[in-house]
Amino acid sequence: MNENIGKRNALLAQKIIGGLSSRNMTGYYAENRDEALRVALSLIPEGSTVTMGGGMSVHEIGLSAALKQGSWNFIDRDGIEDKRAAMLAAYDADVFLSGANAITEDGILVNIDGNANRVSAIAQGPKKVLFVVGMNKVASDVDSAVKRARNVAAPINAQRFGLSTPCARTGSCMNCKSPDTICCQFLITRYSKHPGRIHVILVNDVLGF
Ligand code: SF4
Repeated sequence: MNENIGKRNALLAQKIIGGLSSRNMTGYYAENRDEALRVALSLIPEGSTVTMGGGMSVHEIGLSAALKQGSWNFIDRDGIEDKRAAMLAAYDADVFLSGANAITEDGILVNIDGNANRVSAIAQGPKKVLFVVGMNKVASDVDSAVKRARNVAAPINAQRFGLSTPCARTGSCMNCKSPDTICCQFLITRYSKHPGRIHVILVNDVLGF
């Protein structure tokens, strides 16, 4: 990461962490992927049941790989044939891991989902939710965050999964009602009712989409 961008990210992260704190959520800043991994593992007690609902950022810092190798009960939904059982297990997990489609400078998380397994688990169920968020996901406000989610994250994911949506062909959102749309449920996490439940690691890097 460029040194000047890093300095700006470190300052901006403090603003976001303050915003998260005002919303009953906890933020952390990691200078790089290795530090992000250390912070993440420090927040997941050994023996915990851990699951996730997608999230390139979680993979990119090496967190899913570390959990699979260590003393955690990591439920890898890709290895479970019964997808409904995997989704239901997520709601009862000790820790749920996720990336974010966007986060605002004042600490509001924005996530869009097709099947809604990810956004529903973020909203309710797992005892702890741990987000890994690259500083490339920061948006100035909720409108910008939703625009980022729909015009950057969603088209890339639609292409990644080979979906037949207009954005997969054009690269930007056409506000479709295609059967393949991944923009079914929008979750704006403005405040957490449960102290200690939501943790956000901001990483001085480009992670996910
Ligand atoms: S609404 Fe449709 S076109 Fe827009 S980002 Fe979502 S899937 Fe793509």
